[in-house]
Amino acid sequence: MATVIERIKRGHFWTFHGGIHPPQQKFFTSDKPIRAVSIPDQLILPLQQHIGIPAELQVKVGDKVLKGQTLTQSAHPMAVPIHAPTSGTITAIKNSVIAHPSGLSELCLFITPDFEDKWRKRHICTNFNQLTNHQLIEKISAAGISGMGGAGFPTQVKVSTREDIQYLIINAAECEPYITADDLLIREHSPSILDGINILDNILSPRHILIGIEDNKPQAIKALQQATADNEKISVCVLPTKYPTGGEKQLIQILTGQEVPTGVLPSSLGIVMQNIATCFAIADAVINDIPLIKRVVTVSGQALEKPQNVWSLLGTPVGYLLAQCGYLNKDKKHIIMGGPMMGYSLPTDQVPVVKTTNCILAPTEKEISSPYSTGSKEVECIRCGQCSDVCPSQLLPQELQWSAKAKDQQQLEKLNLFDCIECGACAYVCPSQIPLVHYYRVAKSEIRQQKQLDIKAEHAKVRFEARKERLARDKIAREEKHKAAAAARKARMNSGTAAGNSEISAVAAALARVKAKKAGQAQSAQSSISEAQETLPRNTDNGQKSQVAAAIARAKAKKLAAQTNSSPEASSETTNISNDTESPIDNKKAKISAAVAKAKAKKLAEKSASLINSSSTTDKEASNTLNSDVDTQAPADDKKAKISSAITKAKAKKLVDKSVTLASEIETKTPAADKKSKIAAAVAKAKAKKLASQQEKTRVSVDSNSSNNTVANTEVDVQNPADEKKAKIAAAVAKAKAKKLASQQEKIRVSVDSNLSNNQVANTDVDVQNPANAKKAKIAAAVAKAKAKKLASQQEKSEST
Ligand code: SF4
Ligand code: SF4
Repeated sequence: MATVIERIKRGHFWTFHGGIHPPQQKFFTSDKPIRAVSIPDQLILPLQQHIGIPAELQVKVGDKVLKGQTLTQSAHPMAVPIHAPTSGTITAIKNSVIAHPSGLSELCLFITPDFEDKWRKRHICTNFNQLTNHQLIEKISAAGISGMGGAGFPTQVKVSTREDIQYLIINAAECEPYITADDLLIREHSPSILDGINILDNILSPRHILIGIEDNKPQAIKALQQATADNEKISVCVLPTKYPTGGEKQLIQILTGQEVPTGVLPSSLGIVMQNIATCFAIADAVINDIPLIKRVVTVSGQALEKPQNVWSLLGTPVGYLLAQCGYLNKDKKHIIMGGPMMGYSLPTDQVPVVKTTNCILAPTEKEISSPYSTGSKEVECIRCGQCSDVCPSQLLPQELQWSAKAKDQQQLEKLNLFDCIECGACAYVCPSQIPLVHYYRVAKSEIRQQKQLDIKAEHAKVRFEARKERLARDKIAREEKHKAAAAARKARMNSGTAAGNSEISAVAAALARVKAKKAGQAQSAQSSISEAQETLPRNTDNGQKSQVAAAIARAKAKKLAAQTNSSPEASSETTNISNDTESPIDNKKAKISAAVAKAKAKKLAEKSASLINSSSTTDKEASNTLNSDVDTQAPADDKKAKISSAITKAKAKKLVDKSVTLASEIETKTPAADKKSKIAAAVAKAKAKKLASQQEKTRVSVDSNSSNNTVANTEVDVQNPADEKKAKIAAAVAKAKAKKLASQQEKIRVSVDSNLSNNQVANTDVDVQNPANAKKAKIAAAVAKAKAKKLASQQEKSEST
C-alpha cells in the first residue's frame, strides 16, 4: 500500500463526500496586484476578532498610540491581543456593530489616525533559526495572530501542541468563488510565506509539510513550487477544484485520507493546519516585529467599478474599502463579508475589517441567486435530497433544518449539527431556496447559549453541594470538639485535685452568674412594662382630666381673690355716702374712721393674698378629689362640673359688673387727686398686681400638682375601664368651660385692678379733702368688717373643703 507521500508525489489524492462546483468568478480580481489603500479617517477595532475571549484593555480614551502599539493584552492563551494599525488617538471605547452573522454589537476601540503612520520601536530578527521554540511562540502570541482563513483560532494555541506532528498542512486552497486574496499573496509574497512555513517547521518539527492549493491558481502554484524547490520536506499539493476543499477536515481528508472524528482536534491525529495568510503574518511578526494589523482583502462583485485585492488596515470600515473600489450601488444593498458561499450580509457598511476578513463582496441583484437575492423566497422543502448529496460533512441538511425550526436541540445534536462547517453547499443547491445555513447558525448559537447556562447552573449546584458538605463537616467537628472538651473537663472535675475543685467552683460561679443575669433581665423587663403603663395614660385621658381640675381650681381661686377685692367697694361706697352728705362732721373722727376703713381694706387685701395661697392648696386637693371623682364617677360629676362652672361664671360676671359700676361712680364723684392720693393709688395698684402675681403662681402650682395627681388617677382609670369613655367626655366639657372661665376671669382681673386703684384714690380724697360724717364712716367700716368676716369664713370653708 502506497504511503501518503508516495501518493502525493504521484498526484493521487483522496476525496471527500459531496461538494459543488459553483462558478469561480475569481477573474474579477485575480489579474490585479494587491493595492494599498490610504488610511481611513477612523478605525474601528473590535476587542475580540478571534475564537476565544477578548484580552484586557491597555489604553483609554484620549491616549495617543503608535503604529503597532499593543492595545489589549492577556496571559490567557485564548485571549489574542490587538494592536494599533496606525498612529493616532483613541477617541472612543464603545459598542459597535461587528463582523459577525449575528449583526450584534461588541466593545470596540475607535482610533482617529494622525496620518503620520509612526511606528513604535521594532526589533528586527535577522535569523529566526536562533530563536527557541518558546521565543518563537511568544512572538507569535504577542503579535496577536489568529487563523486568517476564516475560523480565527488562536495560532499560538495551535503551534503550542505537544503532540508528535506528522503533517503540517498549509491551506492555500482558497476554494470559495470570487476570493483571490491568498492567490495574490502567494504570487507576491511567496518568500515571506516560506519564512513563515519554516518558522512553523522549527516550532512543530513535522515529518512532512503539505501545501494544499487548488488547480485554479496556476501562478500561485508556480510561485510556491519555486519557493519550496530546495526544501524536500515541503510538498506543493495541487488539488482539483471543488468546493469546499479549503475546509479543514476536507483538506486533511484529501491530503492524508484521514477523517477527523467529531470533537477531535487534528493535532491528536498528528496534523496541524495553518492558512497561507497566517504563515505570512507569522513571518512578519517574528522577523519584522510587525503585529497583525493589516491583511489582504478581496473587494469584488459586479457592483464595483474597480474590484481588486487591497492591503487593508484592520479596523477599516467596509464602506471605505468599497468606496476605494468604486462602489456603484448607492443603496448599499447586499454587502457581504466573506465569499458568496460562507459569507454573511452586513447590516451596515460601517462594520470594520477584522483578522478573519478575506473578502468583501458587493454583488448586483442579478449576480447572486438563492439566499442572497431579495427576489429569492423560501418555500417548503420538497425533500429532494440534493442538500444531503452535496454536504461534505455527510449530514442531513433538510432534517437539521426541520429540527432547527422546531428548536429541538436534542435532535439537532443527534444529527451532529456541530459537524456542519457552514459551507453553504446545501443552500446553494436547494431548489426551495431555503437559507439552510442561516437556520444552522441560529440553532448553534442557541445551543451554545443553553450550554453556557447549563454550565453555570452546574457550577452553582456543585458550589452549593460543596458548601452543604462543608457545613455538615464543620458541625460534626464542632460537636466532637465540644464532646471531647466536656469529657476532659468532667474527668478533671472528678479527679479530686485542686485544679478540679477550682474548676467545679468556677462552673458553679458561672451558673450563679447566669441565674442572676436572667433574674436581672426579668426584673428590668417588668419595670419597663410598669413604666410604660404609667407613662401611657398620663399622656391621654387623665392628662385632660387633671387639666380640667386645675382649671376649676384656678377659677375658684380667682373668685376668692375677686371677693377680697370687693372690700374697696365698701370703702368707695362709704366715700360716696360721705360725699353726698354735707353735714358738719367732726374732722378728727372722720379721719380716724377713714383710716380704720383703709386699714381694714388693706388687711382684707392681705387676707385675700393668703386666701389665694390657701385656696390653691385647697383647690389642688379639690382637683385631686375631682379627678378621682371624674375617673370613678365621671357621668355623675359631669353634671356637677357643669353646675360648678356655671356658678363660677355667674359670680365672676357679677363681680365684674360691680367693679365697673363702682369705678365709674368713684370717677365721676371724686375730684382730682393730689399727690398723696396718687401715691395711695399707686400703692393699691401695686398690691393688686402682687395679688395677681401670687394668683398666677398658685395657678402654676396647681397645674403641676394636677399632673402629679394624674398618677393616682391612672390607677383608678386602669381599674375602671368602663367609665373611661364617659370620663373623657365629661373632662373635655369641663375643660372647655374652664378655659372660657379663665378667659373671663382674666378680663375681670384687669377691670378690678383699675377699679381698685380708683377706689384707693377716692379713699384718700375722703381722708384729706372731705372730713366725712362719723356715722357714715362707722357704717362703712362696719360693712367692710362684715365683708372681711364673710371672706374669712369663706376661706375657712375652702380650707375645710
Ligand atoms: S435541497 Fe432543499 S428542498 Fe431539497 S431536501 Fe434539501 S432542504 Fe429540502
Ligand atoms: S452547510 Fe452544513 S449541512 Fe450544508 S452542506 Fe455544508 S456542511 Fe452540510
